Amino acid sequence: MNADNFKTLVVETDLLILGGGMAACGAAYEASYWAKKNKQRVTLVDKAAMERSGAVAMGLSAINLYLGLSKGNNTVDDYVSYVKNDLMGIARKDLVANIARHVDSSVHLFEKWGLPIWKDEEGNYVNEGRWQIMIHGESYKNIVSEAAKSALKELGEDGAYYERVFITEPVMYEDRCVGAVGFSVRENVFYVFKAKAVLDVMGGAVHVFRPRSVGEGLGRSWYPPFNSGASTYFTLKAGAEMTCQEVRFVPVRFKDSYGPVGAWFLLFKSRATNAKGEDYMEKRSSELENWAPYGTSKPTPANLRNYLMLLELEEGNGPIYMRTDEAIQKLVAEIPDEKESRRKMKELESEAWEDFLDMTVSQALNWASHNIMPEETPSEISACEPYFISSHSGASGAWVSGPKDLAPGEHHWGYDNMTSVKGLFAAGDAAGASSHKFSSGSFTEGRIAGKAAIAFCVDHPEAFEISEEQTAAMKERVLQPLKTFQEHHAYTNDEDVNPNYIKPRMFMFRLQKIMDEYAGGASVGFKTSGALLTRGLEYLQFMKEDAEKLAAADLNELMRCWENVHRMWQAESHIRTMLFREETRWPGYYFRTDYPRMKEDWEAFANCRWDPESGKWEMIKREIL
Ligand SMILES: Cc1cc2nc3c(=O)[nH]c(=O)nc-3n(C[C@H](O)[C@H](O)[C@H](O)COP(=O)(O)OP(=O)(O)OC[C@H]3O[C@@H](n4cnc5c(N)ncnc54)[C@H](O)[C@@H]3O)c2cc1C
Repeated sequence: MNADNFKTLVVETDLLILGGGMAACGAAYEASYWAKKNKQRVTLVDKAAMERSGAVAMGLSAINLYLGLSKGNNTVDDYVSYVKNDLMGIARKDLVANIARHVDSSVHLFEKWGLPIWKDEEGNYVNEGRWQIMIHGESYKNIVSEAAKSALKELGEDGAYYERVFITEPVMYEDRCVGAVGFSVRENVFYVFKAKAVLDVMGGAVHVFRPRSVGEGLGRSWYPPFNSGASTYFTLKAGAEMTCQEVRFVPVRFKDSYGPVGAWFLLFKSRATNAKGEDYMEKRSSELENWAPYGTSKPTPANLRNYLMLLELEEGNGPIYMRTDEAIQKLVAEIPDEKESRRKMKELESEAWEDFLDMTVSQALNWASHNIMPEETPSEISACEPYFISSHSGASGAWVSGPKDLAPGEHHWGYDNMTSVKGLFAAGDAAGASSHKFSSGSFTEGRIAGKAAIAFCVDHPEAFEISEEQTAAMKERVLQPLKTFQEHHAYTNDEDVNPNYIKPRMFMFRLQKIMDEYAGGASVGFKTSGALLTRGLEYLQFMKEDAEKLAAADLNELMRCWENVHRMWQAESHIRTMLFREETRWPGYYFRTDYPRMKEDWEAFANCRWDPESGKWEMIKREIL
């Protein structure tokens, strides 16, 4: 493929939305409304097709954040306390509350657009747990993306969306973010998007750590492979301050097929036990006192539940089982009438299978291929490899401005969800310290950010010129892997082995190995230390040099090259922040053997910033206000 053979297309807009997932759809929907009123243009760019892009691509079986405020089911403060406790005290109350107070209205919109939500006989939503409601959600993303596209179309010539365009870099004008560049993954086109405001909503990151599924199973992961650290890279390269980059998420899932466990724990009230049938949460409950006050509050934070399970495994008490058999039998046994009990059994069976058919078909296949009838046989569960997903139970992302009426002092700087860089906004997985937003909260945060970004565009009408030299330099840099391949591929007769370059697949393996072994991956029981992290950081510097030699044979590999550059920056910010935080706060997500306890003076945010001028990293400790 000839790198000289690329057209350059310049697209001018006012608000540029990067990503097409839940937060992007919320932003497109809301921003279009305000753009119409204020005569602004909105453009959305997704690397995939919006109908099935991002973390909700396969569909979901529950909306994990719904408060039911109008029925008095919960209060915003209830939710803030829950999130703060689950994150072991490290969360921005203002951001969490801002999402929580608006999220119900987003869920009502989903229902209006056609999303089937389970209802009981009185017409109330069926709750899975306190905050989760059940949906028939196989087509959740299609429904939401259709509404976002319609909203953009309402703007006529002022609204547009581009699919299958991969964003690589921010475009900066002095200290302001004024656009982005990228390329089509289908045709030879290099894109320059010029904007007054940019919203980074490109999701979290998968495959930074070596996955448990390798070889035949490579590519299986809990988190969607579409998201590969673009959000973090983009905000870091723009010079924005990041927060909680150390807070990865290690979900417990059904082993090997990564099926969700939420419905089993919350809806079917299932227990998890070790191989001897012991309930390790009960058996090890005294360990939770070491992590008070969070460990002794209810519900137990997700990382601590993981931790107790990991302690069992360390003692050789695995496999760990979800007692699906016992749970269903127990629910049915509570019904005295035999006919009704048989009917209930059928209903529970179909709910159990639908839970997976809605969002993780592979789990249903796994059960079928292993002759597992969940109502008769328990299923193995295990902790996955680490992921970066701040909208779920992680917290990494950009440090953003909170709302004026809720944010204390320095947590508000003008526009909701604007990063520390002028004109650059973030939401969903791209915004940090406001965990547990999930699909509905990410959509809601996208709405909040989209509205604020339009206000920024109105307040900052000045246009910027991007010079031809700047465009040419960016184009050359982005397409360099194609050139490198062209120049050297004939040197050997196996394109994958060449002393002049490295292919993205090999690069990814290297990165994953470093992260797994030095930064506390699955194969080392999520343990690390200052010495290991320092060594890992040294290796990452070599990788940065090697990244200059990435080579791509075609457009798909060009995307893979850039995905891995993005992952590498995610990895570096992660290691640096873990090093900075000299304590263990989230055992079960990671454990620092040199600082095995939680420390009072680390009840604080660990932030970082990469300086585009000097190329140096700055670590910043910020108070929890
Ligand atoms: C396995 C799993 C299960 C979950 N289960 C639930 C659940 O049961 N209930 C619930 O409410 N929530 C659930 N969530 C959470 C929910 O999916 C997320 O909170 C939500 O999708 C986050 O929205 P987002 O817009 O930040 O990211 P996403 O929805 O992931 O969207 C990211 C977007 O960015 C695009 N993108 C990425 N890189 C680039 C690039 N370089 N250039 C251009 N575009 C790019 C992607 O294509 C995608 O469109 C789950 C998440 C996962 C991973």
